[in-house]
Amino acid sequence: MSDLGDLYQELLLDHYRRPRNHGRIADADGVADGNNPLCGDRVRVFVRVRDDIVQDVKFEGGGCAISTASASIMTEAVKGQTIGDARRLFKRFHKLVTEGIDDPRGPAHGTGERAGDASAEAPPLGKLEVFAGVGEYPARVKCATLAWHTLEAALEHRTETVTTE
Ligand code: ZN
Repeated sequence: MSDLGDLYQELLLDHYRRPRNHGRIADADGVADGNNPLCGDRVRVFVRVRDDIVQDVKFEGGGCAISTASASIMTEAVKGQTIGDARRLFKRFHKLVTEGIDDPRGPAHGTGERAGDASAEAPPLGKLEVFAGVGEYPARVKCATLAWHTLEAALEHRTETVTTE
């Protein structure tokens, strides 16, 4: 493995041991639970949205190193983003962990989006790139995406527990 791989592993373990934005938001306007029974990961994601901006996001729970680190890095990545950008970032991240491809436009979905429409591009992945190798382990993809699916549910005010099965 390259030095870059070591660096990524260090970043991941750091977020696992000291998760950022861990806790709850008292005046959250979106809360959702996520469950990944294959691994035993459980997260609860809280969001506070103002003027279409993810003003604050926190999580409780966790599980394996990948799910906990992913939740922690997710909160850093989406805080301050518009809801649209947070969703686009999830798509971009999802494509990275499932296909190993970093495409700013995420998976193709329908023909409605025109090529070259800069507004449809996701924000840069940044630290989320540490999960690039996860796709080689399909069971781990669920660990890496659990917090994101749960965030999406919180933003959509869905109340049923999100499950990766
Ligand atoms: Zn896991």
